Amino acid sequence: MTIFEDLESEVRSYCRSWPVVFDTAVGSRLTDVDGNSYLDFFAGAGALNYGHNPPALKKPLIEYLQRDGITHGLDMYTRAKGEFLKTFREKVLAPRGLDYKVQFPGPTGANAVESALKLARKISGKEAMINFTNAFHGMTLGALSVTGNSMKRGGAGVPLVHATPMPYDNYFDGKVPDFLWFERVLQDQGSSLNEPAAVIVETVQGEGGINPARIEWLQGLAELCRRHDILLIVDDVQMGVGRTGPFFSFEIAGIEPDIVCISKSISGYGLPMALVLIKPEYDQWGPGEHNGTFRGNNPAFVTATAALREYWSDDALERSTLAKGERVEEAFNKIAADTRTAEVTVKGRGLARGLQFADADLAGKVCAAAFERRLLMETSGPSSEVMKVLPPLTITDDELEEGLAVIAESVRSVTGS
Ligand SMILES: *Cc1c(COP(=O)(O)O)cnc(C)c1O
Repeated sequence: MTIFEDLESEVRSYCRSWPVVFDTAVGSRLTDVDGNSYLDFFAGAGALNYGHNPPALKKPLIEYLQRDGITHGLDMYTRAKGEFLKTFREKVLAPRGLDYKVQFPGPTGANAVESALKLARKISGKEAMINFTNAFHGMTLGALSVTGNSMKRGGAGVPLVHATPMPYDNYFDGKVPDFLWFERVLQDQGSSLNEPAAVIVETVQGEGGINPARIEWLQGLAELCRRHDILLIVDDVQMGVGRTGPFFSFEIAGIEPDIVCISKSISGYGLPMALVLIKPEYDQWGPGEHNGTFRGNNPAFVTATAALREYWSDDALERSTLAKGERVEEAFNKIAADTRTAEVTVKGRGLARGLQFADADLAGKVCAAAFERRLLMETSGPSSEVMKVLPPLTITDDELEEGLAVIAESVRSVTGS
């Protein structure tokens, strides 16, 4: 392990929670160099919704590499990209009656967000953005400007401007009518609010503490944007690709955002890939106006195509995600009820779930206790007060029960209840 401590920057982070050297991984399990097996309830922060090295994706990937399929393709037309686009239209857009143009913005979530913000500014001719309290949209400057967390914002080293935060759903514990403040400052000529180009929102805040927005709230937001001529950007980088059940997390609200950011699990194999979906009338980019060397990660297109065919040809995965999510919720409700020495709140939607501890330190302690029992989990929330659970959607029922039992035991060991 000394090579990492000697040579790798202090910026490293997850490895500090899990100080072992991992080597191989299959499905929901990783193995370290000493042969110990770990159950993965983090799934690459949501980049491994189908688990590690899923066979239905690995086979076409190996075949593609074996036949010298193009690996790096800028934004050239390639067979792999063409097949991805066709499959995306057939399996994702058409069945949902959605009409979007597809932009490949460079392979990270932050790149998709930067693209979306730039495009919204270009379309509207306005520069101001509306973001939400506790939002997370990535670590580049534009994405950070609409991100809530003060530690992450502090890393920018320059003023983060042109964004105004609004209260996310339930920010005032449900006591204040939705959008009271937002509507008021939009209407009041004396409010000093700069006219916004767009609103950027997550339907469930992953990094912000597993905060799900209610369906009515999302519908109200879409309606408010329509009335005030503000573009609606949904950042589905973490909650998209089935994490909450349906392919897009906003489907349950029946809304159609103007721009959608997708990344993390879209390649299905943990390979870097991102998409910006744009309503056709808003595809106002000029050629090369948002560029990037790694927009054509063709092996990612191959695995993304295979993933759509394997998992999105019917609704089996969506139904199983919802069922597993309910099972986690039930187990968490029991933990909350059984924990007498600490105040615990159950949160989440689909297979994005959390346990929030009133005493923030406990969340990290529970994750550490779980790691001792070889279960990988992380915290989220502004004070790292939420123990966050993102298992692969393809986890088996037995593995899910195993992990839930470890969580219950870890909570007991930390709280002494
Ligand atoms: C992870 C994440 C991002 C940033 O993606 P990167 O690939 O880390 O740049 C943006 N938005 C949301 C909601 C995310 O969860």
